Amino acid sequence: MKKRIGVLALQGAFREHRLILEQLGCEVTEIRKSSDLDGIHGLIIPGGESTAIGKLLQFGDLGEKIKEKAIDNLPIFGTCSGMILLSKRIENSTQYNLGLMDMTAKRNAFGRQIASFEADLNVPTLGSQSVRAVFIRAPFIQEIAPNVGILAEYDGKIVFVRQGNMLASAFHPELTEDLRVHRYFLKIVEENWGN
Ligand code: GLN
Repeated sequence: MKKRIGVLALQGAFREHRLILEQLGCEVTEIRKSSDLDGIHGLIIPGGESTAIGKLLQFGDLGEKIKEKAIDNLPIFGTCSGMILLSKRIENSTQYNLGLMDMTAKRNAFGRQIASFEADLNVPTLGSQSVRAVFIRAPFIQEIAPNVGILAEYDGKIVFVRQGNMLASAFHPELTEDLRVHRYFLKIVEENWGN
């Protein structure tokens, strides 16, 4: 059976995730309302603008349904804004969040001067070859609970983490040709299969 992966399609870079997932042989469902979540094996929350996505998540019961699914162990991968929305705490902000990962995100954390940049990250979980990472007004993780694992840091800042079935990156793996990050998420989906 093909993996069916949902991509939250309220705002932001959801098409790019869709293309990569299709390249990796998945069936993709764009998620705009809570009933779209039925039958998916994993969910990606893309980058964009976390306040806008957060507002849209509060219409109907989409945000609440995602939280329920996460508690039921649905694998979720958040990139950039998605990482912010997954965090339990957002520094200096009371915006809506899903609050599923026990960590504090700092928004636009790399400063205005270097709002967007690319870097080679050492991600031992993905092998010895570095990962080219695109950061766009990116957050970093300021503080994590012991059950959150660090997969990569950049300049001493945490930018890639995993907590159980949840994965979050401050960068945009959907904007490069390197499919390893998405493959890693699909491995989590596979491991979760049938559990
Ligand atoms: N700065 C954005 C936010 O706070 C995130 C940027 C992005 O997703 N590329 O949501």
